[in-house]
Amino acid sequence: MSPHDSIPTVTVSPRGAQRLKSGHLWVYRSDIARSDELPPGSLVHVRDHRGRTLGSALYSSASQIAIRLLTSRAIAEDELVALVRQRIDDAVRFRRQNVHDSDSYRVIFSEADLLPGLIVDKYNDLLAMQVLTQAFDREPIRQAVAEKMREHYSGASLLDRVDPHIRELEQLAPQESQVVFGEKTSTLFTLNGVRFHFDGLAGQKTGAFLDQRENYAAAARYAHGEALDCFTYQGGFALHLARVCGAVTAVDASRPALEVAEKNEQLNRDAHTCSEIDWIEANAFDLLKDYSTAGRQYDTIVLDPPAFAKSKRTLETALRGYKELNLRALMMLRPGGVLVTCSCSFHVEQPAFSAMLNAAAADAGRRLRILENRGAAVDHPVLAGVPETSYLKCMLSQVIE
Ligand code: SAH
Repeated sequence: MSPHDSIPTVTVSPRGAQRLKSGHLWVYRSDIARSDELPPGSLVHVRDHRGRTLGSALYSSASQIAIRLLTSRAIAEDELVALVRQRIDDAVRFRRQNVHDSDSYRVIFSEADLLPGLIVDKYNDLLAMQVLTQAFDREPIRQAVAEKMREHYSGASLLDRVDPHIRELEQLAPQESQVVFGEKTSTLFTLNGVRFHFDGLAGQKTGAFLDQRENYAAAARYAHGEALDCFTYQGGFALHLARVCGAVTAVDASRPALEVAEKNEQLNRDAHTCSEIDWIEANAFDLLKDYSTAGRQYDTIVLDPPAFAKSKRTLETALRGYKELNLRALMMLRPGGVLVTCSCSFHVEQPAFSAMLNAAAADAGRRLRILENRGAAVDHPVLAGVPETSYLKCMLSQVIE
């Protein structure tokens, strides 16, 4: 008996096979034609309806995404851990080569690193892992991840950050966030020379928005004068603007986020060109409406709202929301003023986002020069063929008149 005989097989429909052949890694449950008995989280071999092998994948018994392709080879169970270890090495090497001026970055980004179901973020000496699928919850795989992190980042601590909702969706037993190794659960970290607090076991779900790291630096290259940062969270953009602007106002609806932002401000005061940052707890939609109606003016405005379009269905409503925000911001920018506008909705594609911005500028009677069309930082790579890995848009523009 070959070692492969023990691996269950999944036959996918022609549509599922086409999806894999076009470079995607996912096959939905509706595209599974036939399968052996499949334990949750198992390694499976994938075949098309003609019986041709398409590769090896990880199976979920709960998710609509029934399988996530790992490799186009048919591998044996005892090769799985070795493959995961090698992919982790590759991911770490890529970040070491490409991330500069920061001690923090996403070490592993799931599909984008061909490790579908695993995220690891590095905040200085604190690593935070998130398991998103049944397969990565399996003990030998967890162990391999922990060992590799210890090997690559000696002296660091590793936390397992649990999103209860994700565990529930994957039908995994409830579990608390916990320390995997090391002592630390909080630390200070640096992005582009700007310092931040990170508390790995605090309520805030995501830690920092590491995907905006290079966009913070880009924004600071053009920012000037009086600045307004809407949806500031813990001050990501605002703290970068405070190094180059004369005045910074930052808005968020979350008080706990603003409390961390103020603590972050204290860490960076020495490098600030403005006096205190004005942190305002408010609904950004209301504030922008009030301020623009009152005729307030700024030289730099950042808009980085949460994902408005959670699904294709809500796309229209989402675009209306983006347009409202951008229109108000454009009305308030002085000539030469800079708008940094972001969307982290995967469903809002770049052309639609650009069209929204054009329409907002036309309605505001402003003419815009597009300075940069940006995406997520390099440690959040895009995997060709998997559009879901390309979700962040950050457009920098300047009001000409
Ligand atoms: N710019 C931030 C990330 C923003 S995340 C950074 O770079 O770190 C989105 C933020 O929007 C969250 O902090 C959330 O509290 C806030 N938020 C959501 N709805 C809001 C609203 N209507 N008005 C103001 N803030 C809101």
